[in-house]
Amino acid sequence: MKDNLIHLVRENIANLQPYQSARRIGGNGSIWLNANECPISSSFTTNIKSFNRYPESQPKNLISSYSNYACLSNDQVLVTRGADEGIELLIKAFCNPGKDAIICCPPTYDMYAINASILNVEVKEIPIFKDTWKIDLKNIQRNLDRVKLIYICNPNNPTGSIIPKKDIINLLKMTFKRALVIIDEAYIEFSSKDSMVNFLKCYPHLIILRTLSKAFALAGIRCGFTLANKGIINVLNKIISPYPISTIVSDIAEQALTEKGIKEMKNRVLKINLNRDWLICKLEKISLVKKIFNSHANYVLVRFYMHKKIFQKLWEKGIILRNQDHKIHLKKCLRISIGSYSECLRLIEEIKILSHI
Ligand SMILES: *Cc1c(COP(=O)(O)O)cnc(C)c1O
Repeated sequence: MKDNLIHLVRENIANLQPYQSARRIGGNGSIWLNANECPISSSFTTNIKSFNRYPESQPKNLISSYSNYACLSNDQVLVTRGADEGIELLIKAFCNPGKDAIICCPPTYDMYAINASILNVEVKEIPIFKDTWKIDLKNIQRNLDRVKLIYICNPNNPTGSIIPKKDIINLLKMTFKRALVIIDEAYIEFSSKDSMVNFLKCYPHLIILRTLSKAFALAGIRCGFTLANKGIINVLNKIISPYPISTIVSDIAEQALTEKGIKEMKNRVLKINLNRDWLICKLEKISLVKKIFNSHANYVLVRFYMHKKIFQKLWEKGIILRNQDHKIHLKKCLRISIGSYSECLRLIEEIKILSHI
């Protein structure tokens, strides 16, 4: 008899629906517009020749590069294996399984809820308001019982929306000494005036997540940052794995965070924002498009007539988008990552053809 010991798996893991990452969903694409990656890559070389030693746990030079970029001090920065690791570490550090809860505000990034489920921590979902995409402060306030962490994605993935600063400040006031507020700023470089980083000094329970995967075009190296007050960073340092960042990763990340690297990033952001505005302008003229949501990031959420057919036909032509139809408030919506100009052009041509069939 074959016994693969599946019955030993924890119940919440046996029942878990894993994250549907773009890579997991797959596709046979030539134009990848489904993971909010940057379409253009810089090229890097490394002078490091030997790898027999473990890296530093928190590479000092990398930490100072990022704290310099974010205008913080070194003890306010933790470097992690992507922002995703930061999401997980916070739940591990603050939430007792089977007892505490987190709040997240769908439709949003799925990894907050998935990490909580893996760790057997309850998820309270308080949806944002339809179409204005504002957070439901009253409902959050009513549901703060047992909640340790509140995850807010800003700009929000997949809506592309920004939460007004005064709403975030009201949330911070409401949760003072009760819960931590985590602002996921994975896309903040596309809308940098909306960062909450300057508020870290006023609110000890504010935490910010950042990544090099999006505007810095380095999704392949898996490097992210958690920004918070020194006490919280110290707690996270107690539980992070001993060597989370490989020698090569910190070398490349440091290069991306030099003055030259940051300048390149800013140029890339300008270009992508221009492509986005061009794409939106063209989409507005297409009859299959029902609604285009205002975007402050490197993707745009679009409600279509016949979204399924569009998704499928584009998929067959190697243009891979992200279907959001299953999410609350997002019926018939597709999320389109902003590609290079030629990719945006191809996309528009193909959608035009479909709208004539
Ligand atoms: C892409 C993304 C992340 C993950 O960033 P990594 O650094 O690649 O792990 C986190 N949050 C949001 C909202 C994202 O879209």
